[in-house]
Order: sequence, then structure tokens, then C-alpha cells
Amino acid sequence: MKTRAAILWGEGQDWKVEEISLGDPAPSELIVKTAYAGLCHSDEHLVTGDITIPQEAIEAMGAPHFLPCIGGHEGSGVVVEVGSGVTSVAPGDHVSVSFVPSCGSCHWCATGRQNLCDMGAGTLASGMLSDGQYRHHTADGTPLNRIAQLGTFSEHMLVNEASVIKVDKDLPLDAVSLVSCGVATGVGSAQNRAGVSSGDTVVVVGIGGIGANAVQGARMAGASNIIAIDTNPDRKEKAQEFGATHFFSSFDEAIGAVSEMTRGIMADSCILTPGVTTGDLVQPAMDVISKDGTVVVTGLAPMQQQEVGLSLFNLAMWNKEIKGTIFGSGSPRVEIPKLLRQYQQGQLKLHELITQTYTLDQINEGYQDMRDGKNIRGVIAFD
Ligand SMILES: [Zn+2]
Ligand SMILES: [Zn+2]
Repeated sequence: MKTRAAILWGEGQDWKVEEISLGDPAPSELIVKTAYAGLCHSDEHLVTGDITIPQEAIEAMGAPHFLPCIGGHEGSGVVVEVGSGVTSVAPGDHVSVSFVPSCGSCHWCATGRQNLCDMGAGTLASGMLSDGQYRHHTADGTPLNRIAQLGTFSEHMLVNEASVIKVDKDLPLDAVSLVSCGVATGVGSAQNRAGVSSGDTVVVVGIGGIGANAVQGARMAGASNIIAIDTNPDRKEKAQEFGATHFFSSFDEAIGAVSEMTRGIMADSCILTPGVTTGDLVQPAMDVISKDGTVVVTGLAPMQQQEVGLSLFNLAMWNKEIKGTIFGSGSPRVEIPKLLRQYQQGQLKLHELITQTYTLDQINEGYQDMRDGKNIRGVIAFD
């Protein structure tokens, strides 16, 4: 079938909206009519080159090239067609996508860690998960990669069953699209990875689409002090709306206040969710946490970056830990329905995250607004 999608042809270029063709769904594949797609910072990393994959790695994944690529890895929609053997969804079902697929049978899925599913290995570049073949092409037949095996910046998506999760039909699909990446990652960073519990002091660095949700994850877990740090003073109001008790524009400003509010003990955890995570953020994060405290690194870092400023002496002597996280260290098939239940019960704020909606054709405007710091989350609304 023919559909329209936003494609990135080269680093530093605008997204180009054009007609593409989708093949028929093979066994285990399905077509979703997209309802909403979130404009996440991770797609911007692709434009800036921060997550450009070395050519050897692309070839190792079985793809001749990375670009052109259909963008978008947050989204929701309605199933319109399923291939043979698809059992978890049927036409008419509402679904959330998941940027990490979950096959259900690999070692990681079987041990309850679907966010580490082996199928995730091919999510940045390659053909379809089922057979490695390309079924997305431009009008002139050029094969297209899709971010995270999804490509939600498209009116229709052809995806593997492992990449979608059925949701209740009474849920608004804009809310559903949000939980599929930023919300699950932010809330999970606080609750699953930092292990925030009642009475904790938590520092969240970078109040964008992930950080705002780390703040609300800490709030829902009962944290007493939630310190938001962002260089953009306009983020203060949003941070407070999601539960921040304090706001500072730098670590330097925050550290004395954290010491004072904890009587010198310092924070239980610090979650790094800036637009781009850099190695120089690690030591200040380690300085703001207490003995036995935890630093969680959530925000994407440039792929080639290896330098980190860190006192290994203090790491060991103060019994501290640094943890990474993907998908907030939870399983998509557990976390997405759980978060949507919490939204329905008024515990989780979702609509408050959407600062602006755009059409597919306004995608570059949406990303410019993100660069200008105007958006917590911009969302593309399809008709
Ligand atoms: Zn994302
Ligand atoms: Zn798996």
C-alpha cells in the first residue's frame, strides 16, 4: 500500500515528508494506522549525528546503510491488517508501539527483562525483524530503515507483532502514544532503576520529556524532596506541576541546598535525563548523592563518547553505584498497561506533557520548537 512518512536522508537535514510504499504483512507482521506520534529527543540525536552508528556496525546488523530512514519511535494507532500467525492483536484493536520489541521467548524475555529482548539488537538498522527483508520503500524503490523497527512518523506502519502492545479502546490514543517511550523511561528510571521509595530525596537533571516523568515517577513513589535541575528557567513551572519540590539551574546551585535539606546526608539518587548526556555530568551527580546512593544514566549520550570524569576512590569508599537503563528497566508489556491504569486513576499525568500538537507536514517546525526549548513533548496528530 501507499502511505506518507517523514524521512531523514542525511545528517543535519530536515525531515522530508514523502509518499512511500509498504509491503504486505508477512507472518508475525501487521499494519497499524498511526493516530499519534511523539517527537522524542532520540530522533533528534539521529539528525545531529549523536547516535550515528559506525558503518561496520550497520553492516554487522545486516544493513547496507543507515539512511534514509523513517523517523519516530513513540506512537499509537489502530490495527488495520494482520499477517498470518498474529495472535496478540486483530484488526480494530488499539495499540501502543514499543521501541524495544519483546519476543517473549529469548533468555531476557523469559527472565522478565523484556527491555533487554534479543530482538532489540536489530532495532536501529536492518530490514523487518521477521526475515531481514525490506518492506518499506520510497516511490523510486529505495529501501528504507525505520527507527527502532517502528517509524511512527508515518500515516501507516508495517511492524512486527513483537513491537506492539494492545491497549483498552477507551484510552485516548494521544495518551497511549506518550507512555510508549518518554513516560515509561522516565517513571521507570525513578521507580525501577533508582528504586525511589517513600521519604527519599531525588535529584533529576534535565526536565524534558524523560526528566518530567522521572520527577513524576519519584512523586508517585512517595519521595519527600524532588530536586529538578535544568539550565532553562522556563522548565521550573512544568517541573513543579509534575511534583518537583525544588528547582535549580545548575548542580552548583543545588548541592548546598540538597545538603541543607538532608542535614548533610545528601540525595538517595540522581537521575540524568538531559537532552544529551555528557561525561562531565557524572561526577557532579556522584557528588550530590549520599553514601550508598545511586546515579542512573538515562539520557542518550553520543555513541562514540568514552570519557567520564569520575573519582573511583569515592565510588568505592562511599559504596555508591552508577546504573544505566533502557526503557526504565521495565518490561514493555507490563509497564505500558500499568502506566495507562495509573493515568486512568489520575495518578499519572499524561496530557500535561503535551505542549503542542503538529501535523505530519509540520514535523520540522515541531523539532525546531524542541530545539528552542518550547516543548516538553510535541506530538504529531494524524487524522
Ligand atoms: Zn523516545
Ligand atoms: Zn525476547
